[in-house]
Amino acid sequence: MTDPGGTGGPEVPTGDRAYLSADLFIAGRWVPSSTGERRVVTDPATGEPIGEVAWGGVVDAERALQAASTAFPAWSRTAATQRAAILRQAAVLIRERRERIATTLTREQGKPLADSRKEIDFAARVLDYYADLAPHRSGEWRPTADPGLRSLVVREPVGVVAAIVPWNYPVDLLAWKVGPALAAGCTVVAKPAAATPLATALVVGCFSEAGLPDGVLNYVLGPAGTLGETLVTDPRSRLIALTGSTETGRRVMALAAAHIKRLNLELGGHAPFIVLEDADLDTVVPAALRRSFSNMGQICIAVKRLFVHRRLIDEFAERLADATARLRIGPGLDPSVEYGPLIDDAAVRRTEAAVADALGRGARLLAGGRRPEGDRFERGSFFLPTVLRDVPDEAVAMREETFGPLAPITAWDSLDEVAARANATPYGLAAYIYGRDLGRAFALAERLEFGGVGINVNDVTELEAPFGGFKESGIGRELGPEGLEAYLEPKHIRIRIGV
Ligand code: NAD
Repeated sequence: MTDPGGTGGPEVPTGDRAYLSADLFIAGRWVPSSTGERRVVTDPATGEPIGEVAWGGVVDAERALQAASTAFPAWSRTAATQRAAILRQAAVLIRERRERIATTLTREQGKPLADSRKEIDFAARVLDYYADLAPHRSGEWRPTADPGLRSLVVREPVGVVAAIVPWNYPVDLLAWKVGPALAAGCTVVAKPAAATPLATALVVGCFSEAGLPDGVLNYVLGPAGTLGETLVTDPRSRLIALTGSTETGRRVMALAAAHIKRLNLELGGHAPFIVLEDADLDTVVPAALRRSFSNMGQICIAVKRLFVHRRLIDEFAERLADATARLRIGPGLDPSVEYGPLIDDAAVRRTEAAVADALGRGARLLAGGRRPEGDRFERGSFFLPTVLRDVPDEAVAMREETFGPLAPITAWDSLDEVAARANATPYGLAAYIYGRDLGRAFALAERLEFGGVGINVNDVTELEAPFGGFKESGIGRELGPEGLEAYLEPKHIRIRIGV
């Protein structure tokens, strides 16, 4: 195995079975944790250990925050074009190492390799996008009432950012934070989730080799309750950029209140998928299938409630169940596989419980609903993609973010009714509408309380458009110009030029 990150850096897999390893990255060096502790990372498809990482604590978080604070004055004053050049070079290295990073991601997270490749490609595009955008930012003069005064408004980097990332899209969600933060002139301490530290370690290696000065990007791993909370509470971090569950967001927001910290929170979702009476099922069924079960349903914008007009529900349910039963299931490294394991056994049990709850309330099972059988699935955390129909709104699957492969279908009769039912959730991240009459679909889109609405499209992620949630799905936005603004503070400089 070679080591691109210097001593202790992430080891690059030489094949699908290489044992991987990563240390913490603090002040430009790969270092073990202060206690020397390490933690094993397992493959959810096999339950086998695939590598290990340094496992830090409060002291490591504090060291990383200090490194980021020390690096901030020089980095924030570095020309934006120079910062952009480093981001572009990091994107070049990520593309060069696409296969290694994608393989590592599939091994630790479970998603099919083709989806891991897409994730890596999008991360590189995000870095290029912010490299292009940031140097063009400028200040502006504002009108004043007094002719002897001038008002200049500039935007300054907010300071040290704690970037906290979940396990479902670790590489993209790291890039969505680190890209704009570094472009804006902030320095960063990044923390991935315990289950998926290895692919992000390779990405951090790309930044370090791209010429990032020491301390500008630091990378720590450790328990959320100690190391993670130190990143949130320590006064040296000025902004907490978190993607995670709504419960974690609530906790982080409460902790951040002690220092009135800036927050950019991308939290849970419970997306409705509304099929209007004139929808074309040839388009709708594959769209619903993909957005319900890609990444095994573990996406914040995954379809979690399917509202289908009563006229279409029988045909739609049958076709979706058929297509679901045909999905090719197995370990994500197998190129023919479309659907892999869930992240862990707790996720399987949560999904099982939601299925049992729905069936107990009178729902009908059309596909899946259990663990798959066979040697191939024995030791992994697999659960069959599941379609249920006539699921009442009170069922757990219709109310809570189970974050698993469940597609509960229910019928609707009037537009007023479906709008009210779709909005009857504390979440407000993404919603989808399918129908031929665009005017009607658009009128419904305007009534939905969600940060992203897809009309005849099953994804609301667009590089140049804001991504984020209404209500308890979060605060702030990522991607687009808004994703850069999050890392900038407006400063008003008021100047008397004469009397
Ligand atoms: P999680 O909330 O358990 O963890 C997310 C990250 O926060 C992890 O790195 C974790 O270690 C850290 N963390 C947890 N508690 C913390 C604390 N008290 N202080 C500091 N850090 C803490 O979420 P998860 O299970 O990793 O990911 C799934 C969740 O993420 C789902 O709810 C999903 O909807 C959400 N998500 C949202 C988006 C979005 O853009 N809105 C995208 C992907 C995932």
